[in-house]
Amino acid sequence: MTEQQLPRPGLGAYLLLPLLYFVAARFCGAYTVSPEGMGIIWAPNAVLLAVLLYYQGQGYLRFAVLAVIAEMLGDLPYYPVQQSFFFGLVDTLEATLAWLLMRRARMSTQLGTVEDLAKFMLAGPVLAALAGGTLGALTLYALGVSQNGLLSMTRVWWFGDALGYMIMTPLLLYLAQPASRCGYQYRQGDLVALVFTLAVAAAMVAAENGSLQGVSVTPAVLLPSLLYLATRFHPAWSALGVALVAMTVAVLITGGHHPFGKLPLNEEVMRGQEFILIMSLLGTGFAALMSEIREHKRSLEARVAERTSLLLKLNADLAHQAQTDALTGLLNRRAFYEAAQREVERSTRFERPLAVLMLDLDHFKAINDSHGHLVGDKVLSHFASLLRQTARGSDVVARYGGEEFVVLLPESSLEPGLALAERLRENLRDSPMQIDGQAIAVTASMGLTVLRPPEGVEAMLSRADTALYHAKSGGRDRIMEAS
Ligand code: GH3
Ligand code: MG
Ligand code: MG
Repeated sequence: MTEQQLPRPGLGAYLLLPLLYFVAARFCGAYTVSPEGMGIIWAPNAVLLAVLLYYQGQGYLRFAVLAVIAEMLGDLPYYPVQQSFFFGLVDTLEATLAWLLMRRARMSTQLGTVEDLAKFMLAGPVLAALAGGTLGALTLYALGVSQNGLLSMTRVWWFGDALGYMIMTPLLLYLAQPASRCGYQYRQGDLVALVFTLAVAAAMVAAENGSLQGVSVTPAVLLPSLLYLATRFHPAWSALGVALVAMTVAVLITGGHHPFGKLPLNEEVMRGQEFILIMSLLGTGFAALMSEIREHKRSLEARVAERTSLLLKLNADLAHQAQTDALTGLLNRRAFYEAAQREVERSTRFERPLAVLMLDLDHFKAINDSHGHLVGDKVLSHFASLLRQTARGSDVVARYGGEEFVVLLPESSLEPGLALAERLRENLRDSPMQIDGQAIAVTASMGLTVLRPPEGVEAMLSRADTALYHAKSGGRDRIMEAS
């Protein structure tokens, strides 16, 4: 996955952060902290962490100040001002530490791989939340605010913040990403899973003390649905599912519904936090794993497609090379034979005329001898291009070997063959090869014949060759028809 271009925080971001932070603080204060002050999930820090990660620390001071103010406003109904300010400070420090640790670990904010998610878990929920929880509990203890023990306060704060990070930060980061590239394709299982999930969720919400009509229904029944979500959709959906279930469980506990059965409050809070921890580890981790596998598969498929098209092109190049004479670009002898075979068959079957012209450059050895082999090569190329220009597009033009060439003229009797040969002689005369300002005159001897069915390619070519031989012995630079 490529990193997107770094977005810059604008007015919208400076309004959105305190608003989200405030809403999260109010919501968690009202629904995820029990009247006895046992916090299950504390999500505001996770909002700040998501913003710091998303903007990679840009606008840090403003965000930090806004977070403290938002927390004070959010906490006021539940705590005195001094304590609210203190909570805001500790939470902001904690989110800052989490962000610094993640930056240090070079975690990608796309959270698209298991490795990134592991770095996230270690830096945020494990280390930063523990540090924040310790600092928070110590100061509460010093202020003499809480009647619980120091360790138990630390644990509650730590777990509450940790769960907040696990549930909210990936969700916010995924939501901030551009829409997923893989389009949704409906499968029948989706509808079954949806109906099942809704039924199970309704049963869980309706249950009291962990049972419905005497049947045990704990929040664990929703785990299969979350795993299904992870295998089928973008991790954002899993994160959303995890957040919804976690919040519902917290609300059920603080509302006195005892989703895990009737237990003492601190045990119930612990059970709830454990469940949310396991669920978010499974849901988010599995989703990241699946997304990593999907991404891997996509890139593998892209590579295979690229290689395949390269091979196809290479194959086409090789096929072309196998048929082509490297020096002149004309067909080679083998390709000519194949074409001639087809043309002879066609002409014989449909009783159509077919002419063939064999050509050999005159005294070519002398050109090589006096100008060198390289000039000889250039003369051959020059002759080949003249030949190609003079022939029709439907004619088959080939280098037969050395300084010998051959043209097959489909749908042609002797007359068009003769006309081509004459035009070629004229063109040779009119446009000689120029080497260092010096014209090199080249002539060719030619032998012409037409197919005489039922003969084959060899007989026809051999007759053209004999005619060519007669052109040579008759003084060269001439055209002879086969007798
Ligand atoms: P003739 O008029 O009787 O055909 O005389 P000629 O010299 O053209 O015929 P000969 O067969 O004696 O010589 C052909 C020469 O063509 C010999 C060979 O070195 C040269 N030749 C063949 N292939 C190539 C090539 O690819 N490049 C160059 N430069 N010369 C070639
Ligand atoms: Mg020759
Ligand atoms: Mg020759």
